[in-house]
Amino acid sequence: MSAIKPVRGTHDLIGEAQKRHAHVIDTARRVTGLYGFDEWQTPIFEETGVFARSLGDTSDVVSKEMYTFTDRGGDSLTLRPEGTASICRALVTNGLTQSLPQRAFYAGPMFRYERPQKGRYRQFHQIGAELIGPAEPLADAEIIRMAYDILTALGLADDVALELNTLGDPESRALWRDRLVAYFTPHKDRLSEDSKNRLERNPLRILDSKAPEDRELLADAPDLASCLNETSRTFWDDLRRYLDAFGVPFRENPLIVRGLDYYSHTAFEFVTTSLGSQGTVLAGGRYEGLVAEMGGPSTPAVGWAAGIERLSMLIGALETQAAPVAVIPAGDAGQNMAITILSLLRNAGFRSEMAYRGNMKKRMERANRIGASWAVIIGEEEVERGIVRLKNLADGSQKEVTPEILLTILGDGEAAGA
Ligand code: ATP
Ligand code: MG
Repeated sequence: MSAIKPVRGTHDLIGEAQKRHAHVIDTARRVTGLYGFDEWQTPIFEETGVFARSLGDTSDVVSKEMYTFTDRGGDSLTLRPEGTASICRALVTNGLTQSLPQRAFYAGPMFRYERPQKGRYRQFHQIGAELIGPAEPLADAEIIRMAYDILTALGLADDVALELNTLGDPESRALWRDRLVAYFTPHKDRLSEDSKNRLERNPLRILDSKAPEDRELLADAPDLASCLNETSRTFWDDLRRYLDAFGVPFRENPLIVRGLDYYSHTAFEFVTTSLGSQGTVLAGGRYEGLVAEMGGPSTPAVGWAAGIERLSMLIGALETQAAPVAVIPAGDAGQNMAITILSLLRNAGFRSEMAYRGNMKKRMERANRIGASWAVIIGEEEVERGIVRLKNLADGSQKEVTPEILLTILGDGEAAGA
């Protein structure tokens, strides 16, 4: 029988990979907590309409990346491709639209049918945050500062750059859309196949294209800045002023448009040059209409999401965890006392392990293999005298100690960084 393979574009998180993954989530959870965010968990699948409606059916995600299936009851369900739509759905379902603002942090798997490559998977994971309710650009600046704090806490502040843009309000965008169509239409033949389609269905999306022929034409495309109305210009000015006040460095990039339909005003990405074309590690913006789309009142919001795999690849070495203690019994009597000692150690917070079988030599070998710095050896004689033999695996020295003194010595070793 041939071996069972994992699904293309999925990966297991084991050992170092899982430690990095957890470190990213733990860091984000801690920092978002400082900003008053609570963690939300929503299901990994939703009715297809939750995403199809809100992300826009011309978006890449909806038009070609969703994992959609009909369940046994005949309902169309979709594995979530992103978190924002689910959070807005949950806001409405849980009656929270009357208690704004809401500050939601989330972490978990997302699913997109994409061509797998480094930094791009079919099951990947995101951390994300949504600040729902405030219409003020101060909220945008603060949530961007929060993202920056997380990247800083992960040691990445110098590896990433914040690129910022405004998409204006719907009125400004409508004007821009007309100008884009007027610009691209005479060059239609030079656009990629995808962008020819976009020109008809959603011309703004051409700016998000990665096709070289599109990028070339984009260089001279009309920019949104020239189309901003008064409201949009004020918002944009305020946002940049507040970002300065929050001390977040940024550079303006008119090509940041974001792939999904629901954004307005602020759009931003933290990018790095270290991950090839998968350089965006964290991205977000302001959106309106999404909560209304889910059946709630029209509600402004701003949020972002970051790919955990991409962040994990960037972060440096993790702090090594404390070395475990190996408990090594000899004979049946030793084993019973070893079980008691293991509980004692674990209750006191020491990572400890006991092999289930093997002679003394085998068990010592295993202690070395798991990187233990201490071995606690318990034979018949030790049991009779109510003591254990504590062996320092670094220098081979041994001493006989009572269980209480054992904890003190290990505790001192821990404090000394052993
Ligand atoms: P890209 O332009 O790289 O396709 P995107 O605009 O589709 O990204 P978003 O929907 O904004 O990405 O998701 C936010 C973040 O999630 C991205 O910046 C990236 O770090 C991560 N991400 C998105 N898609 C994937 C994927 N298939 N595999 C791994 N990480 C991903
Ligand atoms: Mg994408």
